[in-house]
Amino acid sequence: MLPKETEHTSVPPFLQGGGEMGNLIRSIDWSTTALGEPNIWPAALKYSVSMMLATNFPVLICWGNDYIQLYNDAFRPILGEGKHPQAMGLSSSKTFNEIWHTIKPLFEQVMLGETVSQPDFMVPLNRNGYLEDCYFDFSYSPIRDEAGKVLGVLVICMETTAKVRAMNQAKLNHENISNMIRQSPVAMGLFSGENMVLEIINDKFLELWGKDSSVIGKPVEEALPEMKGQPYPQIMRDVFNTGVTYVGKEAKVFLHRGGKSDEGYYNFINQPFKDGDGKITGLIVVANEVTEQVKARNEIARMLAQVRLSKEAAELGLFDSNLETGTLEWDARCRTLFGISHQNPVTYDDFINGLHPHDRIRIQKAVDDAYIKELTNGAYDVEYRTVGAEDKKTRWVRAKGQVYFDENDSPVRFIGSVLDITDKKYSEEAVRRVNDDLAWANKELIEAQVQLKEIIDELKASEAKYRDLVQHAPVGIAVYRGREVIVESVNDGMLTIWGKPASVTGLPLKEALPELESEDQPFLKLIDHVYTSGESYFGFEARALLDHNGELKEGYFDFIFQPLKDEDGVTHSVLQVAIDVTQRVVSRLEKFRAEEMLRFSVEAANAATWYMDAETREFVVSDRLREIYGLDPEAEVTYDDILNQIPQEYHERVNIGVHEALAEGKGYSLEHPLVSENGKKRWVRALGKMYPAVGSRRAHFSGLTIDITEQKQDELRKNDFIGMVSHELKTPLTSLTAIIQLLDIKLKNYPDPFVAGAAANANKQAKRMTSMINGFLSLSRLESGKLYILKEKFDIEDLIQEVIEETELIIASHDIHFSPDKPIMVNADRDKIGSVISNLLSNAVKYSPKGKNIEVRCAITGENVQVIVKDEGMGIKPQDKERLFERYYRVQSNHTQHISGFGIGLYLCAEIIQRHEGTIWAESESGVGSTFYFTIPRVL
Ligand code: ADP
Repeated sequence: MLPKETEHTSVPPFLQGGGEMGNLIRSIDWSTTALGEPNIWPAALKYSVSMMLATNFPVLICWGNDYIQLYNDAFRPILGEGKHPQAMGLSSSKTFNEIWHTIKPLFEQVMLGETVSQPDFMVPLNRNGYLEDCYFDFSYSPIRDEAGKVLGVLVICMETTAKVRAMNQAKLNHENISNMIRQSPVAMGLFSGENMVLEIINDKFLELWGKDSSVIGKPVEEALPEMKGQPYPQIMRDVFNTGVTYVGKEAKVFLHRGGKSDEGYYNFINQPFKDGDGKITGLIVVANEVTEQVKARNEIARMLAQVRLSKEAAELGLFDSNLETGTLEWDARCRTLFGISHQNPVTYDDFINGLHPHDRIRIQKAVDDAYIKELTNGAYDVEYRTVGAEDKKTRWVRAKGQVYFDENDSPVRFIGSVLDITDKKYSEEAVRRVNDDLAWANKELIEAQVQLKEIIDELKASEAKYRDLVQHAPVGIAVYRGREVIVESVNDGMLTIWGKPASVTGLPLKEALPELESEDQPFLKLIDHVYTSGESYFGFEARALLDHNGELKEGYFDFIFQPLKDEDGVTHSVLQVAIDVTQRVVSRLEKFRAEEMLRFSVEAANAATWYMDAETREFVVSDRLREIYGLDPEAEVTYDDILNQIPQEYHERVNIGVHEALAEGKGYSLEHPLVSENGKKRWVRALGKMYPAVGSRRAHFSGLTIDITEQKQDELRKNDFIGMVSHELKTPLTSLTAIIQLLDIKLKNYPDPFVAGAAANANKQAKRMTSMINGFLSLSRLESGKLYILKEKFDIEDLIQEVIEETELIIASHDIHFSPDKPIMVNADRDKIGSVISNLLSNAVKYSPKGKNIEVRCAITGENVQVIVKDEGMGIKPQDKERLFERYYRVQSNHTQHISGFGIGLYLCAEIIQRHEGTIWAESESGVGSTFYFTIPRVL
């Protein structure tokens, strides 16, 4: 059907407008169609066409049984390129020939009065220069006449292309996601809606939960009832509501799987899942179980904490020498043992220089040997002294280490531990060596190492270091698991302490060491308490009775029970580190016994004791001292109170003695009188010593005082007697000497030489006797405090010359050499200094063979004059040298037993020189000769 050539002049009113299609309709000669002239169209058709031309929606009218078509501008594109304009006025059966079989039944339904629709019907359209799939909702509804009879089909279209495309996209997305989820190598799932329904869950996720596919389709709290009470459903809801992704790291999750509640750690992501409109419709969850890693890492951390604790409890130092790079690491404890406080790097030289000179060569050799594999297999186990680089302290150190070799057996690493054994070394009996190879149960750690290579790599260096340390620690270490106190691991050090074989591992402690169940052994209760309280327990010198092969052995131990806790703070094990201090305790007990003995002795001797704090000068005295000094038993006593009881003339000696004891550490020994409160005079002997500060004990000066009044009185009586006798003897002896001297002079030229000789001899003997009697007189004066020094100025060389001449008068057996120089003036007691020189000369004669030389010298030394008497005699042994100047002291030997003397000469000399503020001493080589020196101040 073609449009008519001629224009109709009259356009029916219902065919007005309608754009291009309006024109087309109007141009058609409808009389040639089944519809006929428009004017005769039924009213229903007229209305319908009029409405169709007026609307912008695509509308098609198919009229009559032939379904003659009329359509508007909006409908035209739906017909595509090939069907328009022929379709206008043509039957639908022709236009839609290819799909008529699907359309026809629909049309027939409409003709029966039904409205049918065909949603999202695809029509390929070329609207934008290319062919595209477009979608329309088609609505087919009946057009009725006034009588209700259906005369045609009204087709109205609504384009749904955008909606369909979005839907398709969403569908595609959904499919992609579900594929992705299913194929994901990790646990992954899509949870939809607010209730988190398990929509797509992959097998990995099901496996992780320990559930089967029956949970799919259920809300999460129903599928996994164990989630109730855990924070995860709420976290999911929050992500759903806020759209903010949630990342969980190593989150602890309890799952009910394999019939039990199972704790695990997971990394997971909850990501919002949005539909095509951007609306959140669910969550994508990806989860990855990391339980093994977390547990392994916690285990490593626990192990490291454990070994660190062991190290600290055992006070072990650590050294680590990398022989390839030449670096040496010392921890703080190690540095302390070498007296180093700084944190700068240390070198091998610091080590060698820190060794005590006596140990240096030996230790250097031990290190060199350790580097030779075939010699020592890298083992190193030594004890040596160090001298602190900064504090100069000497310490004893036990060092144990291991050298590691490469495949060529070259040493590459040297690691070990050091322990301060100073106390042990200084205790009376060295503590037996503690057996130290530790069998540290490390199975778990090794397993973890395999699984967690990277963590291990990081930790490897330090871990190896610490493990080695524990292995070589010379202390007892054990770990007890659980309230049943199972011996989980124990090192050889601990087994040695227990006296038990390694097979006790795995037994409860009370079965391993049944002796601990006895009432007086607190250890099992203490461990139980550590579990209850979660706090460490430190034991100090605790006594333990341990069964060593059937024999109950007593020992003393310093130890610590340390709780080992999981991350929730619950104690799961107890670590014990113990050090055997039996020797220390035993030595102390022995010392205590010795002190007891001392106390008994003090009591038996009825001695008084006193104590003076070196710093505060606080004075503490025993009751006996108060008794001797006649002091108030209650009142406080000061040093001055004591001094006040001592006669003035002794104050200086006491003060000097105390000062020398405190300042120079000299022993204090003094006899002096005292006048007690009640006026009674007594004599005491005081002996004391300075004790330096040790630990908490303060530096102090203490000693004993004994009442020697009785003894002193005896001595005084003896002295008085000697004095009296000497005095009485002196008068007749003086006259006798004078007579003999006269006789000697007169008999010089007597014809009988015997008579002359006898007189000379008698003179010598008389002189000897005089000097002897003088000695006794001086002694008795000295003892009774009546030895007075009468000073005058004189030339000492003159005096020496005089004494030599006098001596030569008596003895001619030795050559005495003296060459006086210029005069040296002194202000001293001429007689007494003369007797000192005379004494030294006569000793030189007495104690050297006849014919030997005696040399006397006199020289200025600074502000003093020094006199020297040197002989070539028997000499003095070192042990006698110190005591020569004591009263009545004589050297006992075959040589001296036939030489007469009383042992008072040098005593008197020393007293005289001391009262001149001088010093006297001897030097000697046994068998070669002796030299006696004294110095006194000279006149300047
Ligand atoms: P003594 O009367 O015994 O000589 P001294 O007090 O003078 O008493 O001497 C004490 C002791 O010192 C003597 O017994 C003697 O052993 C020893 N001694 C003194 N001078 C000498 C000396 N020059 N050579 C060797 N021994 C000496």
